[in-house]
Amino acid sequence: MVTIDTIRRRYGVHICRRCINEEYHLQLNPENCIYDCYYPRKCPRCGKIGNIVTGFRLSGKAKQLFLSPLGGKGPSE
Ligand SMILES: [Zn+2]
Repeated sequence: MVTIDTIRRRYGVHICRRCINEEYHLQLNPENCIYDCYYPRKCPRCGKIGNIVTGFRLSGKAKQLFLSPLGGKGPSE
């Protein structure tokens, strides 16, 4: 499972939700994540303006457990 520490260790910074989904083949929705502030900032990885994720909510963690990191389809919601 990807944790926020995994990401911070890899990048040294927090990155946006789009990048996390891309990097780790996840499908996290905005409500699955915790953000450092309420307005979007520039993401250090993609350089685009986005919501920087600083943590995952329980729903986001559960989602990761049910989704295969290899791109397989998880159980339908
Ligand atoms: Zn990004």
